[in-house]
Amino acid sequence: MIRSNYHIHSNYCDGKNSLEDMVLAGINAGFISMGLSSHMSLPFKNDWTMKEDDLEKYLFELSYLKKKYASFIELYYGLEIDYFLDRKDISIFSKKNMLKLDYTIMSIHSIGSTFSDKVSYIDESQDDFLRAIRKFYDNSPKKFIQNYYDGIANMVITFKPDILGHLDLIKKYNQSNAIFDDQEKWYRKSVIECLEVVKESGIMVEINTGANLRVPGVGRYPSDWIIPELFKRKIPITVSGDSHSIEGISYDFEETEAFLMDCGYKEYGMLIKGQWEMQPLGK
Ligand SMILES: [Zn+2]
Ligand SMILES: [Zn+2]
Repeated sequence: MIRSNYHIHSNYCDGKNSLEDMVLAGINAGFISMGLSSHMSLPFKNDWTMKEDDLEKYLFELSYLKKKYASFIELYYGLEIDYFLDRKDISIFSKKNMLKLDYTIMSIHSIGSTFSDKVSYIDESQDDFLRAIRKFYDNSPKKFIQNYYDGIANMVITFKPDILGHLDLIKKYNQSNAIFDDQEKWYRKSVIECLEVVKESGIMVEINTGANLRVPGVGRYPSDWIIPELFKRKIPITVSGDSHSIEGISYDFEETEAFLMDCGYKEYGMLIKGQWEMQPLGK
């Protein structure tokens, strides 16, 4: 049984429930350790991340909950921090505040220019995604995808977050290979080259189970074929729900655990007394 989840949103960002609701859902799901990870604020206008001014309140509320539920669960302060492909960087505000956290998840969501307020996103809608590929990548999904995986590689080596978030988010609107063919050699090569750098960085890759709950058919991140490639390279993993509501707190955990064991994995990362430790799968 998976007994933790470190990718959890709340109503500080685009999640539906309060921090406390999510904590209670985690306790009910049998977790012994969990981390809250709202979307860190961005250096441009948007309606889905935390506001800069809310960060102190967020950390204060978490410290209160940590004490209140200490006899039930270990709670940790996290954030999902954005890396920007066009800047090859994270925000100054993220850099300033990272040290206040117990752990960080880093992910890429934006596509195109992040220097205006008209940013496009990989995961907002297929139309928005395709518009940005037309505008910024000569209408070539291949150009964008190669830039995306180079960006992930640069992000993990430069910033060494604890956890790499949803490795292949770019497949969200590619059901039935609508935008690119994930069997093609160039695609697999881009992913594998990225994994080599992830391995070198020493960080964990999250097995992100939550996408299917919001967009049926997407499956997990990373895709099933990538997990044996992670295992071959002995890349450590965590299992997380990317939970945006209490219903998603442990969505697909049982099936995911069985699949990971089929792929050869025997353990997953959990924060215990403030340190990442490997815990056995299937127990
Ligand atoms: Zn994300
Ligand atoms: Zn997330």
